Amino acid sequence: ILARVKDVCKRNGLLILSVLSVTVGCLLGFFLRTRRLSQQEISYFQFPGELLMRMLKMLILPLVVSSLMSGLAALDAKTSSRLGIITITYYLWTTFVAVIVGIIMVSIIHPGGAAQKESTEEGRKQIMSSADALLDLIRNMFPANLVEATFKQYRTKTISIIKSSKASPESTTHHVIIYGVQDENGSNVQNFALDITPPPEVIYKSEPGTSDGMNVLGIVIFSATMGIMLGRMGSSGVPLVSFCQCLNESVMKIVAVAVWYFPFGIVFLIAGKILEMDDPSTIGKKLGFYAITVVCGLVVHGLFILPMTYFFITKKNPIVFMRGILQALLIALATSSSSATLPITFKCLLENNHVDRRIARFVLPVGATINMDGTALYEAVAAIFIAQVNNYELDFGQIITISITATAASIGAAGIPQAGLVTMVIVLTSVGLPTDDITLIIAVDWALDRFRTMINVLGDALAAGIMAHICRKEFIKDGEEVPLIGESK
Ligand code: ASP
Repeated sequence: ILARVKDVCKRNGLLILSVLSVTVGCLLGFFLRTRRLSQQEISYFQFPGELLMRMLKMLILPLVVSSLMSGLAALDAKTSSRLGIITITYYLWTTFVAVIVGIIMVSIIHPGGAAQKESTEEGRKQIMSSADALLDLIRNMFPANLVEATFKQYRTKTISIIKSSKASPESTTHHVIIYGVQDENGSNVQNFALDITPPPEVIYKSEPGTSDGMNVLGIVIFSATMGIMLGRMGSSGVPLVSFCQCLNESVMKIVAVAVWYFPFGIVFLIAGKILEMDDPSTIGKKLGFYAITVVCGLVVHGLFILPMTYFFITKKNPIVFMRGILQALLIALATSSSSATLPITFKCLLENNHVDRRIARFVLPVGATINMDGTALYEAVAAIFIAQVNNYELDFGQIITISITATAASIGAAGIPQAGLVTMVIVLTSVGLPTDDITLIIAVDWALDRFRTMINVLGDALAAGIMAHICRKEFIKDGEEVPLIGESK
């Protein structure tokens, strides 16, 4: 028996450590809450967790660029266009299904309850029209300056800059969310401020790292196009493809070393967040039901719909597949960021689930950028919850509008913490709901963000498994696997 336990520990050491670290993080966090640490002590305590976030973020850019370029260059023109079309269609479809699950859940549970307050015309003022938001999304796809795109958030993404600041000198309780909209030179052309003046217990603190980021969508589009072109160039493209292969492999080697730090970082990341959170007893009943609705929707989508889809298409056991990516799901839970989780999702898929690397290199970075089932589901639930609280009857047309805008808003959300909260403005304004009511859900958003990020990551990983199954025949010629162009192994 001892030998078997030893064997299991040896094979699953990292996974066991990660599960333990989540548990220890939770226990430590709740224990230290009783000690009433000062803000400064909390920030020192959070330092190892902050390092984990920084390490992961550091890897995103080289990983996205190298994997897309080398992955697509390794596919022939027919396979890459087929893979592209199937993947994007699949992503849109599952996101839309997630929204429908959310709408059904929120209609059944009805967390907003009976009439509470009258909706006011004042509250319905448009901050940003849905058409503008859509144009911004498309604009983001074509960054005018690639270097700038690696550190600056453009237009819609810039919305995710959430700052908590004092709105007026006389008041200390006014807090505002500031959206900056930048022109192509990076200067702010418009600033919107949402006065969120919350009840005292709901004071939103901006999370470190929320406001920084890059235009990943623009980088994904550029790298994917480059990859396709390199593939078509034949032998003259080989030097650059080899460079990208090499870069990709070296990043994955860094990941293999860094993962041993992650369990340690997770403890502090989770405990640090628990130390910061508001007292759970201050959360109202309606808000509690709203959180339960979102979690139920995520469970239905993540544990039934996505795995069943995987099973029907591949005829393989989804539980085995999901076990292989458990570590990535834990990192998503700890970091609330699908982009930051990307290196681990890669590692799990390649090493545990043996997904073809050509497929993973295309499907994962694109998925981490545009495929956010959890976010879409939550946006639809939140919008309808806000309508219910305002006693605002939504007609069928408005429900359809919510489904479409929630899908679009999730595509536009960056894979960073609480990006979905901000792109939700698009959904609310599309049906004339009061955007100020975002304040109603802020208190529980940080927790829901963790769960929806897990579903976002799960959706990307299962998609890679499905695409690898669909395209499996393309990589076999005369019974042998087709070698990758420029691969050093
Ligand atoms: N945190 C989510 C992610 O990174 C996005 C969101 O819903 O806020 O996938």
